[in-house]
Amino acid sequence: MNARSLPRFSGAAILALAAFIAALPSNLLSQTPQTPALTVLSKDGRRPLPLVIVSDQEFVALEDLAAAFQLAVHEEALGALTVSYKGKTIVLTPDQTLASVSGRLISLPAPPTRSGRRWVVPVEFISRALAPIYDSRLDLRKPSRLLIVGDLRVPRIAVRYDPLGTAGRLTIDATPRAATSVAQDAQRLVVKVDADALDLSSALPTPSDQSLIQSVRVVDTTTLAVELGPRFGAFRAASQPVDTTLRTIIDITAAQTTEQPAPPAAPPVTPAPELPSAFLPPTSPLRTIAIDPGHGGEDEGAKGGGGAKEKDLTLSVSRRVKATIEGRLGIRVILTRDDDRNVPIDDRTAIANNNKAELFISFHANGSMRPSTSGATIFSAVFDGAARAAAIAGGGERVPTFGGGLRDIELVRWDLAQTRHVDQSNAFAALIEQQFNGRIPLAKRPSDVAPLRVLESANMPAVLIEMGYLTNPAQEKLLVSDVFQNAVVQSVYDAVIRFRDALAAGGTR
Ligand SMILES: [Zn+2]
Repeated sequence: MNARSLPRFSGAAILALAAFIAALPSNLLSQTPQTPALTVLSKDGRRPLPLVIVSDQEFVALEDLAAAFQLAVHEEALGALTVSYKGKTIVLTPDQTLASVSGRLISLPAPPTRSGRRWVVPVEFISRALAPIYDSRLDLRKPSRLLIVGDLRVPRIAVRYDPLGTAGRLTIDATPRAATSVAQDAQRLVVKVDADALDLSSALPTPSDQSLIQSVRVVDTTTLAVELGPRFGAFRAASQPVDTTLRTIIDITAAQTTEQPAPPAAPPVTPAPELPSAFLPPTSPLRTIAIDPGHGGEDEGAKGGGGAKEKDLTLSVSRRVKATIEGRLGIRVILTRDDDRNVPIDDRTAIANNNKAELFISFHANGSMRPSTSGATIFSAVFDGAARAAAIAGGGERVPTFGGGLRDIELVRWDLAQTRHVDQSNAFAALIEQQFNGRIPLAKRPSDVAPLRVLESANMPAVLIEMGYLTNPAQEKLLVSDVFQNAVVQSVYDAVIRFRDALAAGGTR
């Protein structure tokens, strides 16, 4: 890391901000109530970067970014805006959401726009356009309005309090993992987190019964305090990693009553309430996932004007998904093909069924006669006769046959394996849409149902993802880019985690 590249903030500004932040309620630490702002955290301290709200979306002024990150902004003839940093260039076009970052296309949730005399860009500009060319790591935490510059350790902290009869349990999750220590200091427990700062985007708990603990509050940038109540007796703390989180459990028990002093001969009585274990053995409800790269071999699928082939795109994304999920979650991922060959549709689901996969994801890219059609769609199977008839009648762009290749949609008997998994398939499709939102351009109707044969014989929750339209020139460029494919992978990864957690909680059964 090059320390010189970090933005410099004046000491006076940091002190003023620190004083201002100290006056705020703890759960608003990362926000400013009057003027919305991102809090920029770097090794030099904190400073605000003002936000401009346009139609409920958060924008930042290019000139503010230029000042904070030593960028040069130029308005070119013909209206283009260039943002340069150390010989690397971002080209923006007013009214266009696509931007070029060192020659690579990225998409923004909204185009650059004027606010008064200033050009403003969506905050995602920081993570999608600036981060790839910047010397230091830029980590935009949009929900908590934090922008972390450089390799600072800023774990997300979530604190929960559960009353358990006469006892209580505090659960403190630090993600990514950060060691915590808990010590009693008079009428409080001091919780120190080994980090540079804390990301407290969720509210700290205030128990309704305050006899054991009264509140949890922020003491300084890396310390929380648990204010103890009048009935507090003792505590016991333990930490354990749970996936990428370090979970610290603080069990709190009430003091013994002294109304009836025990006879001297009696053994000491320690309250030992039955506490549910927070450290259940890691039996994941998701052990195997089948990923299906659509098409292959002589079946090339849809083709773009620039030469991109659906079969190559689906294999590239599928391999990335496999590497990421296996590497980070330890879930086995089966590919229905791992090279350029055609696998019959029924064989694809047979591979998933035979390997007892608990989730099936088929990747495709779409084609349309209309070059302007764009966006991703997540399909799950449909079995209702009327809906199926409607899907066929309304067919058109749902049948990705443009550019050759097999039809994806073939009618099948409706009493096949998928029927019993339809609710979970729809739930998983909704999770994917949620994760795509803001990262991947979506079709007008992002979640849809269709009688897709590759899904209907799958004996597990199953979805088919059409990532976008290769017949749209701008989409073709986007779909073949690393940035886009990695965004698909990250979205699917995040959706899989949520699906797994919902399964573990019995939520989608
Ligand atoms: Zn396809």
